[in-house]
Amino acid sequence: MMNGLIDLHLHLDGSLSLETVRELAPELTLSDAELLQLLQVDANCRDLNEYLTKFDFPLSLLQTPSAIEHAVYKLCEELRLQGLAYAEIRFAPQLHLQQGLTQGQVVEAALLGLKHSTFPAKLILCCMRGSENHAQNIETIHTAAAYGCAVDLAGAEALFPTAMFEDLFQLAIQLNIPFTIHAGEADGPASVYTALKYGAKRIGHGVRSAEDPELMQLLVQQGVTLELCPTSNLNTQIFSSLADYPLRTLMDAGVKVTINTDNMTVSGTTLEREFQLISETFHLTDGEIRQLIQNAADAAF
Ligand SMILES: [Zn+2]
Repeated sequence: MMNGLIDLHLHLDGSLSLETVRELAPELTLSDAELLQLLQVDANCRDLNEYLTKFDFPLSLLQTPSAIEHAVYKLCEELRLQGLAYAEIRFAPQLHLQQGLTQGQVVEAALLGLKHSTFPAKLILCCMRGSENHAQNIETIHTAAAYGCAVDLAGAEALFPTAMFEDLFQLAIQLNIPFTIHAGEADGPASVYTALKYGAKRIGHGVRSAEDPELMQLLVQQGVTLELCPTSNLNTQIFSSLADYPLRTLMDAGVKVTINTDNMTVSGTTLEREFQLISETFHLTDGEIRQLIQNAADAAF
């Protein structure tokens, strides 16, 4: 087992174990295989939009304080057993309001889950890309400020470009809230430029920065860290094989990159597995692996 790994990009709803799902929905009679079909993408996943459909079922289970608390607790325990040193767990409070909770109540439940585990972790609250949820996104920023969390912008990047959400990050800066932005995943380098313009010091994925040498230079100059999630990017067909994954291009340019899971259940992976995959594919040295972990420690919120 690799000890001491750090996951900075890990979605709660995409990382519920089968055991947790069964605990949250004891009435389920599906087999493990049938359950996985609901929760996990297969080799035929077409793109990010299809990938995002795998969140519907787990989200439906995370609509009460006790379910949210339990899911966060179980995820922390799982990460602890996997030997991780630290993680930042993210979710969008506005997607947990189907049974009348407020965003504040959602976050309080998640914080209780953190508290019950000895595993060191923090929360990142995701704002969601969309055209009709502006007020909810603003509320997410204020909730993050109230509870000492960081923020993120997640969702369908190609449908709702980052440029639609500038005021959210102006508010985050005003309130002194650290943030990361999903960019350079389904959308190209332009989305990363936009995220940098808004003051992001971390980028969720950002892997397509490798298409633009000037952008990579800018990332180095500004000390920006990329939260790379290799298997997730294969699932969403950003790259057809790991050999095409531009890890070396980014590392050789001096960009600070970190390795993360994105969604352990949707992508069927663990952080150790991600490290094994990239180590084998790119023949990383022990020093390079240590550097990737150090980058994550340095960029932690
Ligand atoms: Zn993500």
